[in-house]
Amino acid sequence: MKDETLPETHPIPKEFYSFETGTHFTKCLECKCDLMNGKPYLIEKAFKNHIEYQVKDTVFDYALCMNCAERLKSEMSKKSMETLMKFFSERIDFGEQISRMHLSPLSNIQSCMITGKNAEDCHEYQIYAYCVNDTISNDMPPYMVSGEVMEEILPLLSKQTKDDLNGFFNKHFAPDPSLMEPIGPKFVLI
Ligand SMILES: [Zn+2]
Repeated sequence: MKDETLPETHPIPKEFYSFETGTHFTKCLECKCDLMNGKPYLIEKAFKNHIEYQVKDTVFDYALCMNCAERLKSEMSKKSMETLMKFFSERIDFGEQISRMHLSPLSNIQSCMITGKNAEDCHEYQIYAYCVNDTISNDMPPYMVSGEVMEEILPLLSKQTKDDLNGFFNKHFAPDPSLMEPIGPKFVLI
């Protein structure tokens, strides 16, 4: 019988590997700490999908230790945080979230968590995973958010939050400008 007390874990799929190294992320983007230390961390990757050519580009990707992720979130204005929480609580199907805990990481990032749109049909999308060492734990299943949803979220955030997010983005990334068109980085920590 399966032990129901332990969350399912899966090896991190290649989709969540670092574009730069082609393998697991091993260091936190912010504090450079070693991520293979048994503590949870977050991976985010943003893709631009050239549907007509069936080619996708990595716009940016990174891993953050939970200390840094929590700190960055705590720096977000209270109002922006509440707005994000409200947005997700209204738009997420919580029943579906529970069933996602039993899917593979690849199934979970196949379609937008909010709209259900398939990744292959999205011009832009971002994927997120909570990991420990080289595994993904399904107590917080990985998810995908389509560019359309990012476009809905960004105008809801305060100017201060948007400035902070852009500051963080510009500090760490210098992506190909053509990947940023037409409206710049859709960078949201969620
Ligand atoms: Zn860190």
